[in-house]
Amino acid sequence: MDDFREQGPLFTFGVIADIQYADIDDGLNFTQTRRRFYRNSLQLLKEARETWSQSATPPNFILQLGDIIDGFNKDHGASSGALDRVLEEFSLDSMDVHHVWGNHELYNFTRSELLKSRLNSAVLADGRAGGDIYAYSFSPFPGFTFVVLDAYDVSLLGVEEDSLRYQSAFTFIKQHNNNEDLNCPPVEFDSLEQRFTKFNGGFSVTQLDWLNRVLSSADKEQEKVSIVSHLPVHPCSTTPICLAWNFEELLSIIQRHSSVVCFIAGHDHDGGYYWDESTGVHHLTLEAVIETPPGNNAFGTVSVYEDRMVLKGTGRVSDIELLFP
Ligand code: ZN
Repeated sequence: MDDFREQGPLFTFGVIADIQYADIDDGLNFTQTRRRFYRNSLQLLKEARETWSQSATPPNFILQLGDIIDGFNKDHGASSGALDRVLEEFSLDSMDVHHVWGNHELYNFTRSELLKSRLNSAVLADGRAGGDIYAYSFSPFPGFTFVVLDAYDVSLLGVEEDSLRYQSAFTFIKQHNNNEDLNCPPVEFDSLEQRFTKFNGGFSVTQLDWLNRVLSSADKEQEKVSIVSHLPVHPCSTTPICLAWNFEELLSIIQRHSSVVCFIAGHDHDGGYYWDESTGVHHLTLEAVIETPPGNNAFGTVSVYEDRMVLKGTGRVSDIELLFP
């Protein structure tokens, strides 16, 4: 096995989550327990980009795991300006960036605006879920497939209230959450029910069927598939309040396919990791840039070998070796 590693990785990629940039003073999170460094996040992205571009083998691509700018930009009429600034930073290198959509993308822009924006990286796709579902697959290296999922395909965010999408998401969430403010979880205690809030979302049947087909074909071709989503789907890789609404459906699809090797998410600012022994799949939730103070950072570089992925973390992101099942 060590032979592979002496030969160097097959390819590498960068990971970064929850940058949430805004040109505003530092603040606190919703529960007033954590500091958020809104301006500094751009500086941390700059440092991450410089690290990637100056490394001996720069990453083949970057996974930006969602919440690239903060929802506060919307209140200040600064959404487009803030997005320009972060994307400008990314564009200083020629690396492909795969953008995942999170709740903050949908606080700033409607779904249709996002589809027309530079945050739609499906131009880099080999296969797409289709319609206005922002989910696609790409293969950066023979034998390896990445699937970018749309965790807000069923959501109250970024859509008109009189739309079918809003109405069906509203009907769904109201079965679980009776609060007037749907950003408040339905229960106080640490329960999986906490996930039924407006800042989370879910995967539609159409998207799940598409994923199922992608994975069936990957099984046949003996591909190794990494799934990427803003929302985590394994309860042991995150706090319940950050889980996708229908995480069980996603997990049951993963269980039916041998091709999946890992699931990478953001959204939970503390990060998390769990190796699911039943499937051999690694569930990695990346620590957030926005709650990382100046002088520290939170990003990683993943080297992919025939038999494993090796994450080299910087700052709050720990090193970890992910053996393929
Ligand atoms: Zn988020």
